Amino acid sequence: MAGSGKFFVGGNWKCNGTKDSISKLVSDLNGATLENDVDVVVAPPFVYIDQVKSSLTDRVEISGQNAWVGKGGAFTGEISAEQLIDVGCKWVILGHSERRHIIGEDNEFIGKKAAYALSQNLKVIACIGEKLEEREAGKTFEVCFQQLKAFADSISSWTDVVIAYEPVWAIGTGKVATPLQAQEVHVAVRDWLKKNISPEVASATRIIYGGSVNGSNCAELAKQEDIDGFLVGGASLKGPEFATIVNSVT
Ligand code: PGA
Repeated sequence: MAGSGKFFVGGNWKCNGTKDSISKLVSDLNGATLENDVDVVVAPPFVYIDQVKSSLTDRVEISGQNAWVGKGGAFTGEISAEQLIDVGCKWVILGHSERRHIIGEDNEFIGKKAAYALSQNLKVIACIGEKLEEREAGKTFEVCFQQLKAFADSISSWTDVVIAYEPVWAIGTGKVATPLQAQEVHVAVRDWLKKNISPEVASATRIIYGGSVNGSNCAELAKQEDIDGFLVGGASLKGPEFATIVNSVT
């Protein structure tokens, strides 16, 4: 843990769940013992946010999985930052690789989304990460820094931002980055913040890892100096396993 503040664990439920399965997941989370010194956030699909908000313990904060780039209006299918706030969200995930590479969102658009969300007092989980071919071509840092720069070009304060490093090749594949592979990028990201933003932002900002984190590999990853938490997909759909990950802080 190098960033200031608490260890941070987010559960990204993606496009999964039904009213029944989410009710079971919420009741498992409500019954779980969660380490006090950890910020815990879950991101349900939009349509279940209200259900989760009204049944989940306040100990766990709620995040949107995406938000529109500006004020709401005639944008069919979109959800605005104001609406997320209205239904009780404190956070939003932006720049997730599935939105970048499946939906086609680019760096500039994502940076603007972050700026707008922050302007509405929604905190941002800002995702970055390289694809397998980019890693193999030795471009990991270049890609991550370009994505970071797009966030930095749009936002003026990093206080309410958590950076999630999620190598695309590790997401949903079961191929987790090794603790050293993750640590290497986290150090580079912190160094980039130091050089390009400020030493204060570099030491205060939490940099969390995502990509096939589970109950068995979390403890080793959490030991790395610059891993300040996790963004968890698949394993966050199982309450007891998610609790194990929350409690992996060392
Ligand atoms: P995963 O997803 O844990 O299923 O790999 C992580 C994420 O996409 O945030």
